[in-house]
Amino acid sequence: MAEGAVLFANIGELVTNDPGHGPTPLGLVGDAALVVERGRVAWVGPSADAPATDESHDLGGRAVIPCFVDSHSHLVFAGDRSAEFAARMSGTPYSAGGIRTTVAATRAASDEELTAQVARHVAEMRRQGTTTVEIKSGYGLTVLDEARALAIAREFTGETTFLGAHVVPEGTTPDEYVDLVTGPMLEKAAPYAKWIDVFCEDGAFGADQARTILRAGMAEGLLPRIHANQLGHGPGITVACEVGAASADHCTYATDDDLTNLRDAGVVATLLPGVEFSTRSPYPDARRFLGAGVTVALASDCNPGSCYTSSMPFCVAVAVRDMAMTPAEAVWSATAGGAAALRRDDVGHLAVGARADLVVLDAPSYVHLAYRPGVPLVHQVVAHDPVTER
Ligand SMILES: [Zn+2]
Repeated sequence: MAEGAVLFANIGELVTNDPGHGPTPLGLVGDAALVVERGRVAWVGPSADAPATDESHDLGGRAVIPCFVDSHSHLVFAGDRSAEFAARMSGTPYSAGGIRTTVAATRAASDEELTAQVARHVAEMRRQGTTTVEIKSGYGLTVLDEARALAIAREFTGETTFLGAHVVPEGTTPDEYVDLVTGPMLEKAAPYAKWIDVFCEDGAFGADQARTILRAGMAEGLLPRIHANQLGHGPGITVACEVGAASADHCTYATDDDLTNLRDAGVVATLLPGVEFSTRSPYPDARRFLGAGVTVALASDCNPGSCYTSSMPFCVAVAVRDMAMTPAEAVWSATAGGAAALRRDDVGHLAVGARADLVVLDAPSYVHLAYRPGVPLVHQVVAHDPVTER
């Protein structure tokens, strides 16, 4: 191998997500080795066939999986809503209006405070094996505050999403606000964003407004994704399929027609089990999605209101326990599924040529992520993303 190549040997079980290496979905290799060269996977195979390298590490039979790809988070915020959580656990139902509490705190925070908050959460995610993260705006809701949130998020990831259409702020009508989001706010936000998103739900934005907002963003070169069908059956999934969104997120309430449409339109369904957990709501049945041939991603939705976890291992465990996924399906959805939801082919798998982002587990098998819920199983994160690496 070339100079600087690093061998990781004695991997008890390697998840590649590459069908070329083993059965789908995980492409498992037992007693495996992997070589990293210039930040990319250069060789994968049985330990016995591993090439000679300058540097090598014996992983002691531990399992290795690709780093998690968390395709849905809201990390640019200030304030604390633990009291609201406690009230919810005492019986107060969740509603979209709680977002406004965070908006007030976020507007009042300094750039430095918000940046430090994002840095803290990105580091927290990395310790739990996540090295690719999407970050949304949506707690500013003014032209300057939304642009500021995206500029801060951009310091940490290329996967930034303009979510000015999170909720209609106080003191403005829905129509006035849609004009603002699709006009001056979009103009200032677009240079810092890759994606455009809208919370399509009763109490937030309706189907026509969602279409208008997503199409305005697309006209500025942003790619569409959507918060859909979280709190009830609604038009969000239909809109996602119409505009060719990369992903429809939540999908807690989906009809059989919705599933067919997602599959036919090639829209990923991103399920967010932490939200149902943290709002004590019914879970979506992932089996229905998988049975219908829909690509499923799992993401954290890390946010201060409806789900304040940054842990993808936790999401995997809940998806297996309560959403009828197998451990293999859940791990695939939290890695390769997340990559599909972000239309990335360089992360979420460990085939030759992929970014060499690996999680070494303190366990002999990926199954332990679901089998041992709540246990910190991440032994080491090897990552080559220039942003989360610092
Ligand atoms: Zn969300």
